[in-house]
Amino acid sequence: MYENPAPRGPTQHRVAIIGSGFSGLGMAIRLKQSGEHDFVVFEKEGGVGGTWRVNHYPGCACDVQSHLYSYSFEPNPRWSRMFAPQPEIKAYLEHCARKYGVLPHLRFNTEIRSARWDEDAALWRITDADGIEHTAKVLISGMGGLSTPAYPDVPGIEHFKGKTFHSQQWDHDFDLTSKRVAVIGTGASAIQFVPQIQPKVARLDLYQRTPPWIVPKPDRAITAAEKTVFENLPFVQTALRAAIYGMLESRALAFSVEPRIMKLAQKMAEAHIRRQVEDPVLRAKLTPDYTMGCKRVLISDDYYPALTQPNVEVITSGIREVRAHSLIDTDGVEREVDAIIFGTGFKATDPVPRGVVYGRDGRDLVDAWPQGPEAYKGAAVAGFPNLFFIMGPNTGLGHNSMVYMIESQIAYVADALKIMDRRRLRSVEVHPAAQKAYNASLQERLQKAIWSVGGCKSWYVHPVSGRNVTLWPGFTWQFRRATRRFDPLAYTLKPAGKPRSLGNARPSTARQPA
Ligand code: NAP
Repeated sequence: MYENPAPRGPTQHRVAIIGSGFSGLGMAIRLKQSGEHDFVVFEKEGGVGGTWRVNHYPGCACDVQSHLYSYSFEPNPRWSRMFAPQPEIKAYLEHCARKYGVLPHLRFNTEIRSARWDEDAALWRITDADGIEHTAKVLISGMGGLSTPAYPDVPGIEHFKGKTFHSQQWDHDFDLTSKRVAVIGTGASAIQFVPQIQPKVARLDLYQRTPPWIVPKPDRAITAAEKTVFENLPFVQTALRAAIYGMLESRALAFSVEPRIMKLAQKMAEAHIRRQVEDPVLRAKLTPDYTMGCKRVLISDDYYPALTQPNVEVITSGIREVRAHSLIDTDGVEREVDAIIFGTGFKATDPVPRGVVYGRDGRDLVDAWPQGPEAYKGAAVAGFPNLFFIMGPNTGLGHNSMVYMIESQIAYVADALKIMDRRRLRSVEVHPAAQKAYNASLQERLQKAIWSVGGCKSWYVHPVSGRNVTLWPGFTWQFRRATRRFDPLAYTLKPAGKPRSLGNARPSTARQPA
């Protein structure tokens, strides 16, 4: 069903979108709804879903309630649980792609290797992994910030003879039953898969560098009666969505406005450890020494109980060396293992490598970001005309649903396209001054937020500049207000040489190679 119907030749479209997760797919649906059919979506995988397709480790689920973590225009009355498991979220996105007719625009198994702005032609030249060149007037990145796995730089790791894989590339063919397994990392992914594999494995050595704060997970199955109500009385589900949004949004107060409130919320997490972990030594290991919220707050009811089992050891002394069949910790203790699973997260602060995106005058995007990624409203970067990001720099959240932020950015980019069409513009490029002022104010607010004052080291912060380049420091409705409309005054607008019609309803050209 998800086979690519388009021939594998070059394409020429008004808009090219990279990625078909919540961001890229949502953008494609929005274009379709606004009558724009001249677009293509490049997807390196064989189907839609983005992070919810590639992450399929045991226990993978969203840690935001599904009634909120879904598109506002496509409620799903059939979620099985408050926090839906990954296969359901992936199926939901596949359903959206089908229902809103964007599948013919998708080119699966097409990995984009580079994109270069051609100033004379006012278009992006986009090269895929097969060396085929595509062009688009406007390029939209829906690649997400958490797609490139990060691996620990441990001496000797290349000599390990057992099985290794990252949580994002889970090998389901490798049977973990009765194996001795080392897990490195204790972040959002690890706390979901550790309880799933612990009952199977002979031994689980959990290498923890920093313990996360974990609060109880208010999960439960959604009853058949509730689903019937959501199906027949949609306003009930809308009200539930609004209530969840309001509850989560109130947490921004503690994250961004008054971090001292977090100390109170932390009591709940401390009580959670006390309730679930009796052994004072293990409890001490699992209790963070920074203020809750500084790193992502995790939710789980089964992680601590798994760690109290006799086949689990939590190792906090760090890894000194990896040998062919073992890991040696910094205390010199050697533990033999059959497999190492990396729950070590993603390269979030350097999302675009050098040599991939070239803007005006051939400037590499990496050189435009000496202090780490930054953009205007998370969407546009000076020197890179007609390039927009969904989930760009400083649009991540610690307290609410990313889908809300994604929909805000989609609205902004859709409005930009409309204005480009209406005013017959060949290019829009954010003013460096606008970008600078926006980021100065953002960084000022971030300095007072929990991620800066909470006393931790996190991937939210760029390792070289020390700037928080990933998170939005405030209420999500503030971001929505800021992105409701494209603001041409912040941009250099270049008129097109001759009039052309863009964005008007016309038959699809997506299937036709140019
Ligand atoms: P992560 O939160 O970045 O956690 C990575 C873990 O690996 C941390 O415990 C980290 O320790 C550890 N680590 C990294 N490098 C290490 C090294 N060299 N040696 C030892 N330990 C090392 O990654 P993740 O768990 O994959 O989650 C990433 C993000 O994905 C989350 O923050 C969240 O935004 C998203 N996510 C969301 C969901 C969801 O339900 N919505 C689920 C999973 C993931 P330190 O803390 O010391 O750095």
